[in-house]
Amino acid sequence: MQTRVAILELRQANNRTPAACNNKYILGATPIVNLQISQQYLQQICQQVERHYPQESCGLLLGRVVAQVNCIVEIYPTENSWDEADLTVFAAVSGSASLGGSRRERYAIAPQTLLQVQRQARDRDLQIVGVYHSHPDHPANPSEFDRAIAWPQYSYLILSVLQGQVRDHRSWRLDEQHQFQEEKILYTNAAEIDKSL
Ligand SMILES: [Zn+2]
Repeated sequence: MQTRVAILELRQANNRTPAACNNKYILGATPIVNLQISQQYLQQICQQVERHYPQESCGLLLGRVVAQVNCIVEIYPTENSWDEADLTVFAAVSGSASLGGSRRERYAIAPQTLLQVQRQARDRDLQIVGVYHSHPDHPANPSEFDRAIAWPQYSYLILSVLQGQVRDHRSWRLDEQHQFQEEKILYTNAAEIDKSL
């Protein structure tokens, strides 16, 4: 039922059939996938995070939510704005006084950037649906720090970069207990992504 309502609302909002998330993926009680991204975007993200190795690199995933599937329509690379001042803020958020860390192991997206991107996205009927960042020389599993700063409903795409090359990527989403659960990824070609959805 929820699925049908979501589809209906989406159609009403856009007055057209959603193309990027085909019906075969959104009909049914349980979504088959939770994150949909084109291979081309994934490639761009890989190139970005490899360029910034050994520092962590990050960006925003813009798109639409269709029946709990975060469909990526655009990617927005951001600067890793992590600095010492962030330590105090994030230590408070995570409840840990000993967070520490440099840009090799921490990432932050400036709140001004988030707001600006959110506004621009809204103007085009898009929204921020996720965040991606790299783990230099570490697996693509979320850290306790990642969990502490995560938002519900966002997809967290993590790329493991070993010796300068992306070796693995996985996507995660918070459950109701604020724990990360891995989500499935559906890969499409860019041509299949309809920006006007
Ligand atoms: Zn991380």
